[in-house]
Amino acid sequence: MYSAIQNKFAEALASKALSFTPSTEIRKTLDNSVEAIYTHAPSLSQKPSNAALKTGESQPSPWLPPDEALLVKKLEHHSVVLNKFAVAKYHFLLVTNEFKDQSLPLGELDFEAAFNLLREVNRESGKRHIGFFNCGSQSGASVKHRHIQFMTLPDNFHPFPDTTPEVKLEGCTGDKRVPFSHFIAGIAKDASAEDVTFRYSEVLGRTLTTISKENQEAQRPEINYNLVFTEEWIMATPRKHESSESGISINALGTIGLALAKSDEQLHKLEEQGLEIIAEVGYPFEEVTEYAPDHVGFTRY
Ligand code: AMP
Repeated sequence: MYSAIQNKFAEALASKALSFTPSTEIRKTLDNSVEAIYTHAPSLSQKPSNAALKTGESQPSPWLPPDEALLVKKLEHHSVVLNKFAVAKYHFLLVTNEFKDQSLPLGELDFEAAFNLLREVNRESGKRHIGFFNCGSQSGASVKHRHIQFMTLPDNFHPFPDTTPEVKLEGCTGDKRVPFSHFIAGIAKDASAEDVTFRYSEVLGRTLTTISKENQEAQRPEINYNLVFTEEWIMATPRKHESSESGISINALGTIGLALAKSDEQLHKLEEQGLEIIAEVGYPFEEVTEYAPDHVGFTRY
């Protein structure tokens, strides 16, 4: 699969089916040894705007069917396609073969395909990849058709959940080193698709609780969150705004410190704010409390 991704990328670049935006990388170590990399790409005008998602207008899917020039492989329920507007080399996506709504929860078929793909590309490339999913108009998503994205993690970059204390294989936890609300669950080495889906539903459950607590006045609060996952853990971050006050769009990658600056000004803002920007577009950090079944109890007769 990895060589098919590489070959397709080279062909699509040569035939101009894909546009690749050059960028520079600025590495930072934030408070408490949390790592961040800001990608500076001043010429990013081609990414489709997510205005259509925001207003709920109908938007045609780019993957019905996928462009042959970007299609890496058709699987049973999904297809592996290249990102047409790449900033990172070999940025690929797993899209459903039938239209499914990006704003609905992922299911076991999605996780089965996503983890098979993740494990396969990691093994074949010897590089570590991150999977991510932007859900809701305020999450950084721009396409309504269900898609999970994948990127090679930069060399020597360690997303903070790698060193979060107490990431367990049951329940979920948060990391006090970062200022925003998020939920991390460990994934077992031999986890089945069902296990992974269950771990996802745990972090999603916490995310929904935060969203409903923070939007009690809203009649129908929209569900906005980012999901990032590796072979070892999965993390969900509830969201309320697509971009910061200074106009920087944040998607799932931003939650692990990989943010994109489209101008010098945005780069300076990112350097100034660090991960505080995620608290601004999400919710403030909250301690993850254990459920306490002892206190719920059943009435015994
Ligand atoms: P998101 O913005 O998180 O919804 O992710 C959508 C991704 O699909 C972005 O990385 C876009 O660059 C990419 N994309 C948009 N249109 C196409 C297309 N026609 N073919 C392939 N990728 C696309």
